[in-house]
Amino acid sequence: MVLLLQSPLSLSPPSTQSLLLLQSPTTTRFHHSVFPIRRRLGRRRRRRRRKPISLSLENNVRKEQVVVVGAGIAGLATALSLHRLGVRSLVLEQSESLRVGGTSLTLFKNGWRVLDAMGVGDLLRTQFLEIQGLVIKSQDGRVLRSFMFKDESDGQEVRAVERRILLETLANQLPADAISFSSRLATITRTETGETLLQLDDGTRLLAKIVIGCDGVRSPVAKWMGFSNPRYVGHCAFRGLALYPNGQPLEPKVSYMYGRGLRAGYVPISPTKVYWFICFNSPSPGPKMSDPSALKMKAQELVQSWASDLLDVMENTPDDTIIKTPLGDRWLWPVVRPSVSAGGVVLAGDAWHPMTPNLGQGACCALEDAVVLSRKLAGALKGGGENVEEAFKAYGRERWARIFPLTIRANLVGSLLQWENPAGCAIRNNIVIPYLVKLGPLLEHTNYECGLLN
Ligand SMILES: Cc1cc2nc3c(=O)[nH]c(=O)nc-3n(C[C@H](O)[C@H](O)[C@H](O)COP(=O)(O)OP(=O)(O)OC[C@H]3O[C@@H](n4cnc5c(N)ncnc54)[C@H](O)[C@@H]3O)c2cc1C
Repeated sequence: MVLLLQSPLSLSPPSTQSLLLLQSPTTTRFHHSVFPIRRRLGRRRRRRRRKPISLSLENNVRKEQVVVVGAGIAGLATALSLHRLGVRSLVLEQSESLRVGGTSLTLFKNGWRVLDAMGVGDLLRTQFLEIQGLVIKSQDGRVLRSFMFKDESDGQEVRAVERRILLETLANQLPADAISFSSRLATITRTETGETLLQLDDGTRLLAKIVIGCDGVRSPVAKWMGFSNPRYVGHCAFRGLALYPNGQPLEPKVSYMYGRGLRAGYVPISPTKVYWFICFNSPSPGPKMSDPSALKMKAQELVQSWASDLLDVMENTPDDTIIKTPLGDRWLWPVVRPSVSAGGVVLAGDAWHPMTPNLGQGACCALEDAVVLSRKLAGALKGGGENVEEAFKAYGRERWARIFPLTIRANLVGSLLQWENPAGCAIRNNIVIPYLVKLGPLLEHTNYECGLLN
């Protein structure tokens, strides 16, 4: 269900003049055009500050043409695409450094095309193994089916990349002052002139012509634009990164194992690292678990009687690489969905279209968004900036047709793979997978061409 909250378009904003004159952000009285974002700074772990910059203020408000909120995959890819097209942007990131958690992401050929368009594909290829195929097994390790990617899908390229290295690679291509860390967006306000006033947790205020919300699955910018929270889909994931300092022993293939209401998989990502995951059914997301050894124990308990290859990979995993994530998505139904943009504010990545990871397409689509959005925005800015809103609408139309069906397909695939019914699972493992499944059509969506950045 899409819950329509206040539409920023229907608000009667305060004048820019009055906003510019506000002296103390703490005594500012905001009305319904502003949403409060909970302060969580105190609860966040202290991390190494990377490339800190301080925002210089003029009359208490810094002016920016383009502000990107969030230095995740969508935010950095968008800033880099804009940079390649000659458009400067400032990226605001709430953390003190690039987010290092999140283990690894599998990128398919559509993702690699985007990375090539941004000029970073080869920087990453040299660090991560090309995965040749896919082996599907039952929980006891019996092989049900295997595929070679290139036989099933022309020109397919599959590699799992470490999220940390992907983020650093994108960030390193940006100008030194492009990212402002420890800059958590607290409130957002539309001004009469159509600009957007962003207030950060530390009281800093920025007046931006264009704001690109890349602030992830719980996006405050999306909330301000009327989007509902993502819907929990009934299963959670454990992920981890196994380390083999003397070299990992696996073939360059993804292994999936399907049980009842429980599935797992692992894939070598480099000569010394192997990524693994477990998806398990749970009526609710459950309490947040932060003790790394408890996370590992819980993950191991789930699959304790499963095949030894999976258990070995998990055993080789340092506790502090393990994370648990409840999975959710948001279906952008036609007509009732809020628009991807409101004036000069637009969304990209999970902030707009959170999807379940069952097709391995969330990050790939965030990368695609970045290129399509940047091309349209840069074109509009070069034309004098009159048509920015039109450019955002065109981006929304083009990308919606791509991501709406993918979000639904990913959800349905997840439901099928999380079946608990014994008869259903027996049919899936003994008939559907060995004899009926065709991988090619399941990878059709990876043929998407994002085009070049020019
Ligand atoms: C279990 C799992 C497995 C997955 N596997 C794959 C896969 O194999 N392949 C794939 O393509 N995708 C995969 N995904 C999806 C992928 O992780 C996401 O689609 C991707 O990370 C989205 O990137 P993003 O930049 O939109 O959001 P994020 O990566 O969440 O980045 C958002 C950024 O915004 C910042 N932020 C948030 N709020 C504020 C604020 N108020 N002020 C300032 N900054 C803020 C955050 O700190 C963060 O840095 C997987 C997801 C999960 C859960």
